[in-house]
Amino acid sequence: MIDSCSLEKSPMLTVDAAVNHIQAAIRPINDSELVALENALGRVLAESVYSHINLPHERNSAMDGYAFSSHDVLNGQPFTLALVGTSWAGKPFQGQLQCGQCVRIFTGAVLPEQTDSVIMQEHIQRKADHIHFPANTKIQQNVRAVGEDVPQGSLLCVQGKKLTAVDLALLASAGINTVNVLRAINIAIFSTGDELAAVGHPLKTGQIYDSNRYLLTGLLNDPCYNVTDLGVIADNKPALTDAFTTAAKNHDVIISTGGASVGDADYVKEVLTECGQINFWKLAIKPGKPLTFGTIGACYFFGLPGNPVSAQVTFQKIVAPALQQLTGAAMTQSLQLTAICTSLLKKSAGRQEFQRGILTQNEHGKFFVSSAGQQGSNILSALSLANCYIILPSECQGVEVGDKVLVEPFSVAI
Ligand code: AMP
Ligand code: MG
Repeated sequence: MIDSCSLEKSPMLTVDAAVNHIQAAIRPINDSELVALENALGRVLAESVYSHINLPHERNSAMDGYAFSSHDVLNGQPFTLALVGTSWAGKPFQGQLQCGQCVRIFTGAVLPEQTDSVIMQEHIQRKADHIHFPANTKIQQNVRAVGEDVPQGSLLCVQGKKLTAVDLALLASAGINTVNVLRAINIAIFSTGDELAAVGHPLKTGQIYDSNRYLLTGLLNDPCYNVTDLGVIADNKPALTDAFTTAAKNHDVIISTGGASVGDADYVKEVLTECGQINFWKLAIKPGKPLTFGTIGACYFFGLPGNPVSAQVTFQKIVAPALQQLTGAAMTQSLQLTAICTSLLKKSAGRQEFQRGILTQNEHGKFFVSSAGQQGSNILSALSLANCYIILPSECQGVEVGDKVLVEPFSVAI
């Protein structure tokens, strides 16, 4: 399935080609578990859910007003009906309405059987126990029909749906209190690099703080992911072999950062080649050139570049869709739009770039984007200021102020 090729010899791969290759290799999870509705937010439905009841369940009023029968209405003339009771939400009118009678009704209250219309309270005049209806009173208005939202037996949420707050509300409205969801996937993350120090310890010469595990932990904050943080693994063959093989036994996915470039990647590459089926790719994108993908036993492995901005871009463009596929969720794609660039952007032809930008919208709805600052793959501060990628195609050789560019806001999927 997966062939190993050296980083140096392999041609540069586009993001789309890498995504397609990975997509073909991933087998989505199909083990499911029953969870209480209150624990189902963000989980993926293992089977479609249908409604056992009509929604609404009973005919009810869409307004505060008066319920009456259209049989009491005469040719658009004003008319008067006797008020004989009230239908409250949760406390329906119990009596039998006769011809010439109406009831006070509140939003959500069940309509008495003999009525088919509701007039808004603002449109009538009440004199003691009589309600005066105006000329041209409309009939069959302000009534919520049985099953108008969801007819009994019809689909509420489709298999593969990642449940949102609204989905939970919809399922609850149909009285559903447990759902069958696909199991969460187990993901191990670690950083590699002799230079990495943990926050909370003073830096020694040559050290930097390990920021990537915080990035990955945040990016993986999702009810479909159980994340194990395996810390920092030194650039050391036995330690790496042990970490990879142990983690592969009880995780669905391993994601590492660092050790991916040609110079210091030797151990990672050597170890992975020995313990799995791995590709070492040079991606035609900036930032984020080197990427490792493959399997160690039944576990998928993603090796991301060490530079934090490269790690974020390769995670979002390559790993995130793969994880989404693995969870069994229906695939979505990031929203992209066109904006007018208000900064000069430098670029040379050859690689697709994901520059970090700040997207704004003016009072007429027009989109503008400016550079978020320095574009080096180590520049976390600009990434932190950014709210979007400015996607520049491979052949682009720079952008002038006023040019139209393609923009992808962070975290808006459709
Ligand atoms: P590498 O991919 O190991 O060659 O690392 C590329 C760059 O990313 C180097 O400057 C590393 O020091 C840096 N780097 C690697 N891992 C991390 C990490 N976990 N946190 C922050 N920077 C890192
Ligand atoms: Mg390194």
